[in-house]
Amino acid sequence: MSQQVRVRFAPSPTGPLHIGGVRTALYNYLFAHKMGGQFILRIEDTDQTRFVPGAEDYIRESLEWLGIQPDESPWNPGSVGPYRQSERKPDYMQYALDLVEKGHAYYAFDTAEELEAMRERLTAARVVQPQYNSITRTQMKNSLTLSEEEVKERLESGAPYVIRVKIPRKEEVRMNDLIRGWVMVHSSTLDDKVLMKSDGMPTYHLANIVDDHLMGITHVIRGEEWLPSAPLHVLLYRFFGWEDTMPQFAHLPLLLKPDGNGKLSKRDGDRLGFPVFPLNWENKVDGDTASGFREQGYLPEAFLNFLAFLGWNPGDEREIFSKKELTEAFSLERIGKAGAKFDIAKAKWYNEQYLRQMSDEELAKFVIHEAQKEGYSLSNELAVAAAQLTRDRVTFPQELWKESKLLVVAPQSFDDQVAEKRWNQDAIKVLSSYAEKLQAFEGKLDLDSAKELLGQAAEAHEIKLGKVMQAVRLAVTGSGAGPDLMQVFVILGKDELAKRISFALAELKPID
Ligand code: GLU
Repeated sequence: MSQQVRVRFAPSPTGPLHIGGVRTALYNYLFAHKMGGQFILRIEDTDQTRFVPGAEDYIRESLEWLGIQPDESPWNPGSVGPYRQSERKPDYMQYALDLVEKGHAYYAFDTAEELEAMRERLTAARVVQPQYNSITRTQMKNSLTLSEEEVKERLESGAPYVIRVKIPRKEEVRMNDLIRGWVMVHSSTLDDKVLMKSDGMPTYHLANIVDDHLMGITHVIRGEEWLPSAPLHVLLYRFFGWEDTMPQFAHLPLLLKPDGNGKLSKRDGDRLGFPVFPLNWENKVDGDTASGFREQGYLPEAFLNFLAFLGWNPGDEREIFSKKELTEAFSLERIGKAGAKFDIAKAKWYNEQYLRQMSDEELAKFVIHEAQKEGYSLSNELAVAAAQLTRDRVTFPQELWKESKLLVVAPQSFDDQVAEKRWNQDAIKVLSSYAEKLQAFEGKLDLDSAKELLGQAAEAHEIKLGKVMQAVRLAVTGSGAGPDLMQVFVILGKDELAKRISFALAELKPID
């Protein structure tokens, strides 16, 4: 029987979750669901200096917004918890000590000054990347260079120490990444990373491996920035004797700036005016803020579809995929190696596609909600009409109200530029007649009668309707552009329409 797939998303709560992190979570979710496995969320909070209050809630809310909830998480734990690394703190030391015992790790007592002195020495000797490694460790204060008694004495006296991994001097470390293929690294390029810090906390590397092992993780799907750490992780699995259950690795391509030059950062979003975070963020402590896709009006289904395509594609022309369809179509093989350029126009396009798929009744809810924020209470009937009128003109749901507000609020002023060009005697004649005809008209105005009466008004003065249309729009809506005018007329009804025209005729001065 093949092993049950278990994947994890393991963010550190150091600030708002970047869009790249959301994509990592989504790919983990899709892969788990496709394979009938589990998607686990683990909070990697061992670095207390970088902990930001509120970040964990932000992660949770972001995943909830997109409907990519984990099967196991700190707030919905399974049987392999804790799901917050800080809560597993007492357990890590024994794993580090196990490696010391096996000869794969060692105590190091060097002070900050001694480490600095080493770096200076190496820099003076023109070493490009000064590091604590298989060569330099022989000149430092650690359990490989000090006598057994001295080590014992130091430990017993409570002297501060760290535990470092002992990287073999000459060895080729190989790993078959599911996206990048074979990755080979020579151990001489790796340094003896700290596994256990002097405050008794594990570093990312130790905690990550131990947790993935204890949680039965079968595939590690994460951002490319972790690829350089993977050889160390492979070595750690070997040192622990966990090679048989070592997860398979899949390192996702970077999210790039729109021009393809480098990694997408928060600053790019600020500079180019689009969000790079799923939700609005506000750090109450340092005042840091960021804007989110949700608050800008992106629909979760559209945003999810957009995200899925940032690095993956189904291999054909189709672009619109529901979450269920994505799950069925998803595979790690179809994730590209090259970085994915971030294209905000595409995100908007997706939002429009998903908006267009919604019914007028669904869209009406947005209209009612937005109108309410400005103190207008709309009937459902009017909101449905407003949604139908504006649905093809907008990118975001909140724009439905902005575009249809003219149905509820009569213009108090008129666009000067349009008036200066179009408010001529011809327009005044046609509009005056139209207002009269509307008042005399019996029955309910519909598209045909609205058009017909306007046509008659123009004909009566032998004026081409096309020449005065913009002035007509100006009179009724206050501006020179907007949604389909005849539909607006029908929704307003003949009385309101005639009233608006009379108001405009009284307000505006003709240009000829
Ligand atoms: N805590 C790491 C991060 O913040 C997780 C990396 C990994 O998935 O191994 O991205």
